[in-house]
Amino acid sequence: MKELIFATNNFHKLTEIQSLISESFRIRSLQQIGCTEDIEETADTLEGNALLKARYIYDKYGEDCFADDTGLEVEVLDGRPGVISARYAGNAHDFEANIDKVLGEMKGIENRKAQFRTVIALILNGEVTLFEGIVNGKIGIERLGIKGFGYDPVFTPDGYDKTFAEMPLSEKNKISHRAVAVNKLVDFLNSKA
Ligand code: IMP
Repeated sequence: MKELIFATNNFHKLTEIQSLISESFRIRSLQQIGCTEDIEETADTLEGNALLKARYIYDKYGEDCFADDTGLEVEVLDGRPGVISARYAGNAHDFEANIDKVLGEMKGIENRKAQFRTVIALILNGEVTLFEGIVNGKIGIERLGIKGFGYDPVFTPDGYDKTFAEMPLSEKNKISHRAVAVNKLVDFLNSKA
């Protein structure tokens, strides 16, 4: 069985990916390999950050690995919050403040177009491959729903009349940016298995 390190400590992401990937691959998290460092995301693009995290692990442990990075890109805000989505309002992962900032900046603006974009960087046998997943949608004028996390209460994917925060997780997981990127990664890995 081939081992792959996923540069995350998010247990939910880990189990989600393991359940999708062929049994010929065993995925291990940073915690499982004893890596306790916080890998700083200092790049100014999602691609840069995903690659930076994957390279850090590859250089240090010499093992096949992948890493992801996600951002909300709002058209009228020139793609912001983008790579700084987690800390848009200052403090890391203050979801409420981040939403308030986006809603404040979009007050009175008609163009509500936005997308979530996930980039996964894989290093397999020393070779880098990037996978992208995008879901298009619109930013609401107020929060709706309590499920999910991050910007979910203000993001309605195209073709739906409810926000990600109003959907059961199983429904969101079928169409989300992360699902699209992960499925591309999984197809690639399964073709190598
Ligand atoms: P990460 O790269 O997966 O850690 O995502 C960075 C930031 O993007 C998170 O802190 C959230 O603010 C936002 N984000 C990522 N994925 C989602 C999602 O599925 N729904 C809402 N917000 C998300």
